[in-house]
Amino acid sequence: MTNLLEVANLEGGYGRLKVLHDFSVTVEESTITAVLGANGAGKSTMLKTISGLVPPRGGTITFAGEDITHLPVEEMIVRGLAHVPEGGGVIPELTVEENLRLGGLWRGTAGAKVTTEAIKEVYDLFERLGERRTFHGHQLSGGERQMLALGRALVSKPKLLLLDEPSLGLAPPIVARIMALLRDLRDEMGMTVLLVEQNVGSALGIADEGVVISVGNVVARGHAADLQSDVKLRHAYLGF
Ligand code: ATP
Repeated sequence: MTNLLEVANLEGGYGRLKVLHDFSVTVEESTITAVLGANGAGKSTMLKTISGLVPPRGGTITFAGEDITHLPVEEMIVRGLAHVPEGGGVIPELTVEENLRLGGLWRGTAGAKVTTEAIKEVYDLFERLGERRTFHGHQLSGGERQMLALGRALVSKPKLLLLDEPSLGLAPPIVARIMALLRDLRDEMGMTVLLVEQNVGSALGIADEGVVISVGNVVARGHAADLQSDVKLRHAYLGF
């Protein structure tokens, strides 16, 4: 299997605050890698630094064999990286359909037809969004908003999904649906996912690999099942 993403010795932070220290991770094509760790460990910063929202201060990011370390965010999207931020980033004043259309903006007017097709595929995947296409973002439930955020990312036809806590604040049955969907995207469409989660059990339940970070650095990595059964590690870093 080939690595779709290779992050090596990444450094990043905000102003004088250094958050990521020598952070490295690899993600194989068509797999799910879960990134776990306590609040403030640097998980969101790691995703933002990979997707270009926070400029890297050192290290390299290689995507599909090419160095993308210092590319602008727009170029990342064109190449197939889609970042779904914590909370989803749905725009409350826009309708479901308008939010989905944002996922295809990078194609310009010439790509409007492709975007319309991609939106149709999202409606096939999430029937609920199709039923609510004229609803505004603020009229949706938390679960629907998260589905919309995921749907918008899929409209961009990504090769890699960077997901920041998609289960946050959602009831267990909805979390289970989202996790099942991610598994289906991997198994049926070959999607590659880097998944940041506080919900350790759910994330390791679908992930192939797991990485545990603490204070911006990797403290453990391995097969998801091995991490899940490592009682010491769970107690030390994952709080259960
Ligand atoms: P959480 O699960 O709480 O989101 P996390 O592991 O994702 O935690 P980060 O959000 O990456 O952690 O935060 C890591 C550190 O960076 C924290 O000390 C946080 O206060 C700080 N931080 C995050 N965003 C910013 C920002 N925009 N400006 C300054 N400091 C920030």
